[in-house]
This record gives sequence, structure tokens and C-alpha cells, in this order.
Amino acid sequence: MEDSIFYKFAKGELKPDKIRFEDDKLLAFDDINPNAPTHILIIPKNRNLRSIVQMTSEDTKLLGSMIYRAKLLADELGLAENGYRLTINVGKWGGQVVPYLHLHLLGGAQLSGDLSQFTKAE
Ligand code: 5GP
Repeated sequence: MEDSIFYKFAKGELKPDKIRFEDDKLLAFDDINPNAPTHILIIPKNRNLRSIVQMTSEDTKLLGSMIYRAKLLADELGLAENGYRLTINVGKWGGQVVPYLHLHLLGGAQLSGDLSQFTKAE
């Protein structure tokens, strides 16, 4: 996890191209390979969780603050009227690629995708 690119962003060892928000607890930046006109990732700076699997009751405030930051960014970017999507992928079957907790904010267009889709095991 310490090798993860998002861990390096959190620690300031590397900088994402486009930062949308930063304070002492959270960092929000544009996804390098966007799936929507707006695709922002929000990460904690001081809590090294691989995914929601490692979340404890002590992290509820942190997760709330990540969601609230996404809401404020969506408001700022004018996404609220038409709607947007907040997603957290969890683990391999959840489609998570980067092993450092992150919240996706996707918007700016009608989003497709049936959330119930799955690939049958062979
Ligand atoms: P996951 O599939 O783990 O939920 O999402 C990881 C996201 O991180 C992907 O949407 C991917 O495009 C994005 N990503 C991966 N590496 C980088 C990077 O180095 N910089 C930025 N800004 N985004 C990245």
C-alpha cells in the first residue's frame, strides 16, 4: 500500500496533474483516465486504508467527510442539477485497481452502466 501511487499523492511525494481540493485531511484530483467529463478522485491524506474492507467504526467521520467533499465539488462544478455518481470500488471483484481508499465523483453527462452487471465465472 505504501507503494501505491495514491499513497504517494497523499504524502506529497508525487503530485497529481490537476488538484481540485486539498486540506490537511483530504486530497481531490482529476482521474488520469476519465470515465466522464468530470471524474475526480477523493482520498484521505492521513489514513492508509487499502479499501473499505479495512474500514473501522473510527473511519465513519472520514468517509462522511469524503462524501461531503464530493458533494461540495459537485455543487461548485454545477453537477447537482442533473445529477452525478459517487462510487467506491472494493477489491478485485468490485473493480478496484489502486489499493488505497478513494471515492470517485463522476458527472457532466448522462452516465450509463447497470450496477447489477456481473461476469459469469467460466
Ligand atoms: P479503481 O478502479 O481502483 O476504483 O480506480 C482507480 C482510478 O485511478 C482509475 O479510474 C484510474 O484511471 C485512476 N488512476 C490510476 N493511476 C492514476 C494516476 O497516476 N493519476 C491519476 N490522477 N489517476 C490515476
